[in-house]
Amino acid sequence: RRIGITGVPGAGKSTSIDVFGLHVLRDGGKLAVLAIDPSSERTKGSILGDKTRMEKLSQHPDAFIRPSPSAGSLGGVARKTRETIVLCEAAGYNNIFVETVGVGQSETAVHSMVDFFLLIQLAGTGDELQGIKRGIMEMADGIVINKADGDNVDRARLAQAQFRSALHLFPPTMSGWIPEVLCYSGYYDLGIAEVWEMIDRYFKFVKDNGYFERKRQEQARYWMYETINEQLRNHFYSNPEVERLLIEKENRVLSNVQSSFTAARDVLDYYFTQK
Ligand code: GDP
Repeated sequence: RRIGITGVPGAGKSTSIDVFGLHVLRDGGKLAVLAIDPSSERTKGSILGDKTRMEKLSQHPDAFIRPSPSAGSLGGVARKTRETIVLCEAAGYNNIFVETVGVGQSETAVHSMVDFFLLIQLAGTGDELQGIKRGIMEMADGIVINKADGDNVDRARLAQAQFRSALHLFPPTMSGWIPEVLCYSGYYDLGIAEVWEMIDRYFKFVKDNGYFERKRQEQARYWMYETINEQLRNHFYSNPEVERLLIEKENRVLSNVQSSFTAARDVLDYYFTQK
């Protein structure tokens, strides 16, 4: 099972993955936790952080936790993570979690490599749906509201109702599955079994209707083309003469001496005819 887990910083991803992981490992098997954090490349500091996260899981003999690869573009980081999934599975890890920060494009990358996409949300932040990227909600197969504990329970229930009604406005999912919304508390270990029952229901549903296999095939094809595209792009842009020509052509385009299209054609002509 490949499961993507996303949520904004502070949503409780580390805390939750720690308890989700232990829950999954109760049935035996092995778990690999991978991460995609685009910030680690841009800012050299990662949002997911290198503080000791997932305390219990990191000591578990059947768990493997790998931080985000830090080299390269989001595309490159995502491809490496996708390759790591294949490697981990070959090494006997039958459960894979891919964690990402719920702030941007990295969700799309994760979505393209997992079977189930779990969105962790928080309640009690005012207008619940504000600031949540619609695209991320649309990708979610399950939305879980964390920190439903103490005096936050009522707010979590309210947020649950709001998310449920918001989901009705979205088009039906490709899988035919209707995304569920649940409350839980990662810190106090409440409602974890229910979250996992939902995920079990999903897997049964998509295996029965054939969507599971179809999606895996589509993803395999997608990553073949992604890998080709990425390497073609790298080969092109790392050519020293292309680099030089690009600077020259860019200046000509910016000063209206040459059109974008003839400039592009000149660079490509050079690239394709070089010996
Ligand atoms: P991440 O940035 O998404 O990985 O979030 P963390 O797992 O680091 O959690 C952020 C903060 O929220 C920490 O101080 C946690 O102790 C706290 N937290 C996480 N889960 C819960 C929960 O279920 N209930 C409460 N009350 N606090 C939580």
